[in-house]
Amino acid sequence: MENHEKNSSVIEGIHYATGELVTIEVIDGLIDKIFIKDGMSSVGGNLIIAPGLIDNQINGYAGIDFSGPAISAEDAIKAFTAILKNGVTTFLPTLITAGLSSMTRSLRVLSEVWEQDELFRECVPGFHLEGPFISSVDGFRGCHPLEFIRKPSVDEFRELQAASGNKIIQVTLAPEAEGAMDLIKYCVSAGIVVAMGHTNATSTQIREAADNGVRLSTHLGNGCANMIHRHNNPLWQQLADARLTPSIIADGLHLLTEEINVFYKVKGPDNLIITSDIVYLAGMEPGKYSYLGTDVLLTDSGMLMDTVHNCLAGASFPLVKGVETMMDFTGCSLAQAINMASRNVARIYNLDDRGVLAEGKRADLILFEMDRYRINIRKTYINGRLVFDCTER
Ligand SMILES: [Zn+2]
Repeated sequence: MENHEKNSSVIEGIHYATGELVTIEVIDGLIDKIFIKDGMSSVGGNLIIAPGLIDNQINGYAGIDFSGPAISAEDAIKAFTAILKNGVTTFLPTLITAGLSSMTRSLRVLSEVWEQDELFRECVPGFHLEGPFISSVDGFRGCHPLEFIRKPSVDEFRELQAASGNKIIQVTLAPEAEGAMDLIKYCVSAGIVVAMGHTNATSTQIREAADNGVRLSTHLGNGCANMIHRHNNPLWQQLADARLTPSIIADGLHLLTEEINVFYKVKGPDNLIITSDIVYLAGMEPGKYSYLGTDVLLTDSGMLMDTVHNCLAGASFPLVKGVETMMDFTGCSLAQAINMASRNVARIYNLDDRGVLAEGKRADLILFEMDRYRINIRKTYINGRLVFDCTER
């Protein structure tokens, strides 16, 4: 066995769940020991320490669209580096509905980056395919381009999976689409997480999908028509079925306070996850842009408006905003809100090595200040390595 010098470091902060001042010893990228300290911090400036955030839906960032026709490996790295600054230490690059050749090309580029870049590999357990196998009905399809929405097909999925180098770990689809149940069964048996989303499924179809192994509801409450039947709509059964964990876009814009409260009360803090669903305009200066063939306006307050159809065109707030919003809207604790953006997400993908502060886990850590609900990320660590630091001014 090779004998190598152990790489160790010490990180100090206030434990996000217990409120105690702790010293975390990191050896070779893993949390080796957590000590509780008395008194004031000497090195950490009393920042709060928590597990890094895990985002299962990032479509792009800082001007880079993962689904874009011209995405390059350099672009993907640029977006990825910017994402880390927001306290995200694990994420799923997400591709939305597009033509097959465009999707396979994007998947090849992402796969290439995954093969080449060690840090990317550490942070990206795989990719999320949102579409093209979703509802083609207006409202439910959201902003996914109608012309590229297709019927679920195991053959086509296999083609996409091959282009990705076998790294698609989640598919969001509509269970009511013809052929969906076969694709669900195929993916579930291959260990791929299947979510329902952009769906107008009946309660029976939702139950059948869950019977076949669907466990997630993608951004519940969004990807839904404005006008729905009060009894027969896709929301009730997704809420009622305890097997389904919803992801929600808790940016304060996509869902009302009362919607978030109902989802939170029905599912509970252990069975709900926060997602960002940010698009490539996130992290850009406010202004007028083009997105998916329409004019959009990114406002000073972070709202991304489709000015042609007068509706939201996507999300622009990173995941940490969802942590803030959950505390603000539901009154949940910081620990519960962080869990919804870290531990609960890790569980979905069987990422047993992250999402909690515990000995033996990866030292994927964030240090931050908190003022009421506002969180200011100061440092991000991946496997014990400092990858972002804004404490030096
Ligand atoms: Zn969506």
